[in-house]
Amino acid sequence: MPDAQNGAAPAMETVQFSLPVGEISLRASAQLPVGRTTLTQLLPILQNLENVVVDKVGEEARRAGKSISCRAGCGACCRQMAPVSLFEAEALAAWMRSLPEARRAELEQRFHRALSALRDAGVLDKILASEWALDEEQTTQLAIDYFHAGVACPFLEDESCSIHPMRPLSCREYLVTSPPELCRDPTANEVSGVRLPLKLSRALYAFGQEMSQDARGWIPLVFLVAWGRSGAKPGEYVAGSGREVLTKFLEKAAAVSASANE
Ligand code: SF4
Repeated sequence: MPDAQNGAAPAMETVQFSLPVGEISLRASAQLPVGRTTLTQLLPILQNLENVVVDKVGEEARRAGKSISCRAGCGACCRQMAPVSLFEAEALAAWMRSLPEARRAELEQRFHRALSALRDAGVLDKILASEWALDEEQTTQLAIDYFHAGVACPFLEDESCSIHPMRPLSCREYLVTSPPELCRDPTANEVSGVRLPLKLSRALYAFGQEMSQDARGWIPLVFLVAWGRSGAKPGEYVAGSGREVLTKFLEKAAAVSASANE
């Protein structure tokens, strides 16, 4: 990313940090911009961090004689209502705007068709009635209704995620050890999900709740195109040097994790 003032690459610094993940403290380092950075710009670092957490959980599952069943080509879970934080929505909406016209139009059509299918299944109105977010029973019922509508994520192509490197943290956190065929209907089958000791997505949702005064702090991924038209820049809510933004994120992640384990 060239510096706007003089065309030079922005100054970077190596930042060492640690993050409690269950019983262990994960030590890592990242190359971060010295200059002004937003939480949205820090997402590639957070995605890498999430991948490390998921790998550790996968290792633990293997030590316990299990294996993670999730593979490319199995998109059964991609018919669920995938949450996307406002910051990830900002990055994905910007990426979509950067696509060649034909590809962008194709993707927008898919989002449009997905919303129409959800409307026809009677699910869209339920999603738009925001009070479900405040009631666990209603949230669960909505998740079941959404899945039964059978609407694939618009980014799913040949049963694989077409935005795999940029996929939301919530998608990275959904892992199972049961046979993949059971995921075709998790409401009827006993699917063995993997419990992550730390979900970084929750820290992004917590920032989203603070800034938007919304009970969820995220949007269903299927709303991405409509949301992107607002031109919102939520990443500005947490901005500073790369080090400052990462520090705020890690503090939020630790606080959210501590309250989840209370
Ligand atoms: S973003 Fe990718 S992984 Fe997530 S639901 Fe969509 S296709 Fe599946």
